[in-house]
Amino acid sequence: MKKKTCLLMTLVCVMVCLTSFSTVGTCEEHVVPDPETIYQVALLQSLAQGHYDGIITVGELKTHGDTGIGTFEGVNGEMIVLDSVVYQAIHDGTILVPPDTETVPFSNVTFFEPDTQLHLTDVSDMASLQEQLNQAVNENGANLFYMVKITGEFPAIKVRSEYKQEKPYRELDVALAADQVECDLENIRGTMVGLYCPSFMGGMNSIGWHFHFITEDLTRGGHVLQVQVGSADAFLDATPAFTLTLPEGDEDFQRMDLSRDMDEAIHRAETATSADSAPEDPADGEQ
Ligand SMILES: [Zn+2]
Repeated sequence: MKKKTCLLMTLVCVMVCLTSFSTVGTCEEHVVPDPETIYQVALLQSLAQGHYDGIITVGELKTHGDTGIGTFEGVNGEMIVLDSVVYQAIHDGTILVPPDTETVPFSNVTFFEPDTQLHLTDVSDMASLQEQLNQAVNENGANLFYMVKITGEFPAIKVRSEYKQEKPYRELDVALAADQVECDLENIRGTMVGLYCPSFMGGMNSIGWHFHFITEDLTRGGHVLQVQVGSADAFLDATPAFTLTLPEGDEDFQRMDLSRDMDEAIHRAETATSADSAPEDPADGEQ
């Protein structure tokens, strides 16, 4: 009997110890972020409808990922997150490193842990690039998220950024048609950071690929419109979880009709170049 009591006491003691350890381990202020999740700020649909107010700070965004894409308050340039640094490609395609207090209306980031790698050689355009990446995605599972980093030589790449918008904000495709600035880079080394969203994400983001680019010397970049890849390595991070944060206490956001079909407007915003929209009045010029 004595032996049994002793064993029981030991078990109780072990359990108490484990309980107190797990209490300490789950202290809310020290939650370790899940590296295997895509963290998204707001919706591409809310951005497309002109919700450009920042929702979280750059400083907070960095606690949710070291790699990703997005934009800044007022659509003040294109965001590239690479190696834990948030870069801002402003309207003329030059790169700034914004302060942690800068705010973000839309972004996707993750902690990058590559699962799959492929080498790319002489890829002639965006469609061919997506075809090759889709092959890797399909082999691994098309219904997951993927963050990709493509580092190498680019014979030609067309990137765009845009002028910061002022209130009242126009919808994104309208703002970009007026204030997008394109930049053709040739024979340049750098990294494309891209996000793949699976087919069920049509109401919260855009399905398929979305790429931003930054040069190796970290001086130029933007949202990728067209690309030729010379020789590059693509690293894909398959990501099975998704975390969404929405603005709290934001009346403008609550007034938006997010059931509106924004697919065409988003497609225009992501792909249109100046060649697609011939100016009605040649005297208008650039801003
Ligand atoms: Zn973009």
